[in-house]
Amino acid sequence: MKIVVCVKQVPDATSVRRIDPATNRLDRSGEGALNATDVNAVEEALRLKEAQGGEVVVASVGPAKAVDSLRKALAMGADRALLVSDDEAAGSDLVATSYVLAKALEREEADLVLFGQQSSDSDGAVLWAAVADRLRRPMVSQVAELTVDGGSVTGKRQTEFGYDVIAAPLPAVVAVSDAINEPRYPSLKGIMGAKSKPTETLTLAEIGAEAERAGTAGSRTSVIALQPPPAKGDQVKIEDDGSAAEKLVDWLAEKKLL
Ligand SMILES: Cc1cc2nc3c(=O)[nH]c(=O)nc-3n(C[C@H](O)[C@H](O)[C@H](O)COP(=O)(O)OP(=O)(O)OC[C@H]3O[C@@H](n4cnc5c(N)ncnc54)[C@H](O)[C@@H]3O)c2cc1C
Repeated sequence: MKIVVCVKQVPDATSVRRIDPATNRLDRSGEGALNATDVNAVEEALRLKEAQGGEVVVASVGPAKAVDSLRKALAMGADRALLVSDDEAAGSDLVATSYVLAKALEREEADLVLFGQQSSDSDGAVLWAAVADRLRRPMVSQVAELTVDGGSVTGKRQTEFGYDVIAAPLPAVVAVSDAINEPRYPSLKGIMGAKSKPTETLTLAEIGAEAERAGTAGSRTSVIALQPPPAKGDQVKIEDDGSAAEKLVDWLAEKKLL
């Protein structure tokens, strides 16, 4: 079975998020990391491969430095990586990103395309649906338990009232939640081995994508203005001079919270 896991490089959780005022986009020049639920998706793909054989490919659309995050997936055990990186793709919104990613996936002809549930920088939780629509494949999202059996995939997801169990024929697209597994840490051998695994960086032209459908040219949304959230009013800073607990209780009582 061939599995392609779509992953995104996001700013490292410890980095300070900054919007570039010149472009109104997130400044991605700092330290990057593999998006958290994408690590769950990589783990799930590796478990499926270990049980059933096949190949695990990680694919991403992003800047050239996103290759560092793809290496983490390779170090975990993925077989090869594919990055679509092109100046013409910069500024892609959901529509443009889904177009480029779907073009890259068409080349791969995977049995199963896995996604994380959402990215920690844009938090859209929609890209998988847009890509599945472009590929005209069935899709199951929010999957906390995944079974691939013969020609079909079954996903179990938690709802407010119990579980949904959804089956679909392969080839299919699945987005996994972080409840699905506990990802492994890359071993030292895995980290060393990742350096020699095949890693392709392709341009839009090389995947047969039209430049005018990518980047800002192909985007349907634009950010007009951004501003920091308004400061929260009614804040009290309590210095602990030994009476902080007492002051805190008084303040909560005053607010009728006790
Ligand atoms: C006006 C505008 C400009 C933007 N400019 C840029 C930009 O210059 N650079 C940039 O990186 N983003 C940019 N974005 C954000 C980018 O378009 C989104 O990241 C993209 O639409 C995916 O949405 P999301 O991040 O909310 O992902 P979600 O829908 O939350 O992601 C779900 C899953 O999709 C997969 N995924 C997400 N993104 C990718 C990807 N790029 N490659 C492979 N798999 C992926 C992961 O598995 C992830 O867990 C821009 C957005 C807007 C609105």
